[in-house]
Amino acid sequence: MTFQDLNLNTPLYNALDDLGFTTPTPIQAESFNVVAGGKDVVGIAQTGTGKTFAYMLPILKNLPFSKQENPRVLILVPTRELVVQVVNEIEKLSKYINTRVLGVYGGTNINTQAKDLSNGVDILVATPGRLLDLHKQDCINLDYIETLVLDEADLMLDMGFIDDVRKIERLCPSEKQVLLFSATMPAKVVQLANTILKEPETV
Ligand code: AMP
Repeated sequence: MTFQDLNLNTPLYNALDDLGFTTPTPIQAESFNVVAGGKDVVGIAQTGTGKTFAYMLPILKNLPFSKQENPRVLILVPTRELVVQVVNEIEKLSKYINTRVLGVYGGTNINTQAKDLSNGVDILVATPGRLLDLHKQDCINLDYIETLVLDEADLMLDMGFIDDVRKIERLCPSEKQVLLFSATMPAKVVQLANTILKEPETV
């Protein structure tokens, strides 16, 4: 299988060409149609398996240009390092698409991030605590979220973010697509998936 077998578009093919990627990884091949079809998905995948592109390829393919200032895609990850890494991957993939990507995380100046948010964002990558702090300060509106991604869900719960994740999920519209990716599926991750995903497909 090659990326040509997935129904992508020219900007995505050009970005993949620049990266020198020709073959989807197994998680990418399996996720594409399910995510593109709008279903909730539980993806079991370790870091290094290409799981960021597994959710970003279908998301970017289906995200129309918009003047909406509020984010339409929210990706939660447990650490600042992961925010930086995921933003970097999205920037590589969206090189030929007019999308605004922003990462927010704790331990740095919140006012700078609030200002960046006010410039308008399509895809927001965030750690849960900082996202809630920004929300408390009225710097962020989650009413327009269409897709919520919980990346590294097992790590996120190990780090004690369960209540924050649930709170954030409730701040998003109830009609949305939820994608949960985790390297392992301990009981608490299964329970989270069972309560916030609707008839998910597992890949
Ligand atoms: P991830 O599992 O998302 O952290 O990705 C691990 C690394 O694999 C990243 O550096 C990606 O840029 C790279 N990668 C993602 N998809 C592919 C692919 N289809 N072929 C080769 N490398 C890839």
